[in-house]
Amino acid sequence: MSEQHQNLAIIGHVDHGKSTLVGRLLYETGSVPEHVIEQHREEAEEKGKGGFEFAYVMDNLAEERERGVTIDIAHQEFSTDAYDFTIVDCPGHRDFVKNMITGASQADNAVLVVAADDGVAPQTQEHVFLARTLGIDELIIGVNKMDVVDYKEDTFDEVVEEVNQLLKQVQFQTDGASFIPISAFEGDNIADESGETPWYDGRTLLEALNDLPAPEPPTDAPLRLPIQDVYTISGIGTVPVGRIETGIMNIGDNVSFQPSDVGGEVKTIEMHHEEVPKAEPGDNVGFNVRGIGKDDIRRGDVCGPADEPPSVAETFQAQVVVMQHPSVITAGYTPVFHAHTAQVACTIESIDKKMDPASGEVAEENPDFIQSGDAAVVTIRPQKPLSIEPSSEIPELGSFAIRDMGQTIAAGKVLDVDG
Ligand code: GDP
Repeated sequence: MSEQHQNLAIIGHVDHGKSTLVGRLLYETGSVPEHVIEQHREEAEEKGKGGFEFAYVMDNLAEERERGVTIDIAHQEFSTDAYDFTIVDCPGHRDFVKNMITGASQADNAVLVVAADDGVAPQTQEHVFLARTLGIDELIIGVNKMDVVDYKEDTFDEVVEEVNQLLKQVQFQTDGASFIPISAFEGDNIADESGETPWYDGRTLLEALNDLPAPEPPTDAPLRLPIQDVYTISGIGTVPVGRIETGIMNIGDNVSFQPSDVGGEVKTIEMHHEEVPKAEPGDNVGFNVRGIGKDDIRRGDVCGPADEPPSVAETFQAQVVVMQHPSVITAGYTPVFHAHTAQVACTIESIDKKMDPASGEVAEENPDFIQSGDAAVVTIRPQKPLSIEPSSEIPELGSFAIRDMGQTIAAGKVLDVDG
């Protein structure tokens, strides 16, 4: 195990090789789940075969995925020397947005998979745009399926050129982007330098992952702790619990819960059943605040410093991306918004601008409607008080998902809050 942790998203167009790459990364780092290995050993012994073939691992992963059991490309883990990586859901996967907004899997960095034989495709654009919107710091671009194009340098260069243009269009800072010719299936340039690409002298994918900058915990931002649950514990009293998104909580701090608009002094903080004097971003804590009873606060409240309380939105402006909606979305639509631990019905009061999803530029002012695939700036009015923050100030509390009919239909980030 390494000390540092990274949440990594694997993004890219369908069929370009994301799942295969995840399987390959797990395989090369010795992180394939033990039961898969065990199962293979038994079968191999029965058949009198040795060896541990990647194709076999992939079959198992695929099979388990189809059965919807434990294996999904999300939430797999592997390690390099520098980092423990958790692969988080990629856009389009069922729980991506939900996990993204609850903070369970906000990705720090991403690998963009682009198939060499196909180049930039619609979801390549969409995911790059989303990645930029969601604040991904650095992209590693795996130009995949190099085996399919006979490991040709020209083809690699063409794809690099195409992707670079896309990155420029969406104003993704390209300095940090590294391009690697890979074959997820054959294993070229993943863990070891490939003999098939003598023209390439850059890093392997695992080297590039190992060299990523360490994510900085947001300790300098003001405290933001969305409340997940509120318990009553005998001997202590009311204990709200939640995960600290930003800032530090110390015993003795004066805190405020919004939108419930109550507050007091932090008396105790508990983590993993032990009392601690302070807690940091990423810590799951239970705590107790002088004078706060069980009915004073609720799930969806955000706890912050009394002198820098979480903002409460009367209305807010946001950038949204419509992922899947069966019809059109017009002003007046009132679906449920999921933001941190809150779930609140909100009305889309106006659709202010439609954006070109590839370039992020304004395509239309005040459109009548938006639909699947569209990106737009909208004004939103929560039907009940909602604490939410501009994502430029506190990104961790500035994003949300819109759900309707049991599905995530859109995701967004907050641009401005009118309290
Ligand atoms: P995803 O939809 O992006 O997750 O793509 P998959 O990982 O499911 O891959 C789609 C198809 O491409 C599968 O049939 C894979 O076996 C194949 N594939 C993925 N990577 C490679 C590669 O590097 N070389 C070759 N030849 N096929 C690949």
